[in-house]
Amino acid sequence: MLEELKKLVNLQAVDSEIFKLEEELDTLPDSNDALEEQIEEKENKIKELKNAIDIQMEEKEKRAGIYKKHEDQLKTITGKQSAIRNKEEYNALLREIDNIKRFLRDLNDEITEISKEIEAKTEELNITEEQFTGEIEGFKKQIAANTKRMDELDKTIDKLYDEREKLSKNIRPAVYNKYQRILNNSTNGKAIAMAEHRVCLGCNMTLPPELYNMVLRAVRIEVCPNCQCILIPGENHSKPASDKDEN
Ligand SMILES: [Zn+2]
Repeated sequence: MLEELKKLVNLQAVDSEIFKLEEELDTLPDSNDALEEQIEEKENKIKELKNAIDIQMEEKEKRAGIYKKHEDQLKTITGKQSAIRNKEEYNALLREIDNIKRFLRDLNDEITEISKEIEAKTEELNITEEQFTGEIEGFKKQIAANTKRMDELDKTIDKLYDEREKLSKNIRPAVYNKYQRILNNSTNGKAIAMAEHRVCLGCNMTLPPELYNMVLRAVRIEVCPNCQCILIPGENHSKPASDKDEN
């Protein structure tokens, strides 16, 4: 094979690796963003539950304060019984005592109701927290693994770029520029395609026989008329037409 072609094949091997690793590197920040979002969602859900419990606790305390005030009031009024002078006053006092007692009963029912809600919400919080804590831990581990991988990829890609620079320096500029132009236009990181059984394996187009023969001889740089890749003989290629030795 033409020496320059061999060098291009080596360069392509490095470029393919760079392409693959850069694609992987591209997906990792998005993956981490999605994980961070999920963590935030779960943490917010826990915060919401805690806030709801806090609000109920405040309501309960407020009612307990009112309860205490009216209880004291009831004691004071009950203590006034000795000062009563007539039946009207007595009846009025009994009514007041009755009213306060009814109010306290209602308030007590409310406090019991709120306590039940607090209990149910606390139970929900505990279950949610237990479940989410494990999940959040898993997400955080994944983020750390992704970050580590990004670091590794950055380093490996840097090394591969150094390697490609060394390789490209040994290729004739005209040949290298042609390769680079094809690579820049390619969407899959390939500037070289194998040709086998008269087909370009880069795009599956059947090649004209004379072009295919030139590719098999590998003495010049030929490109696929369809995908523009530089063509090299495939591993299972048939022998050039000029070669009498059939397999
Ligand atoms: Zn092609």
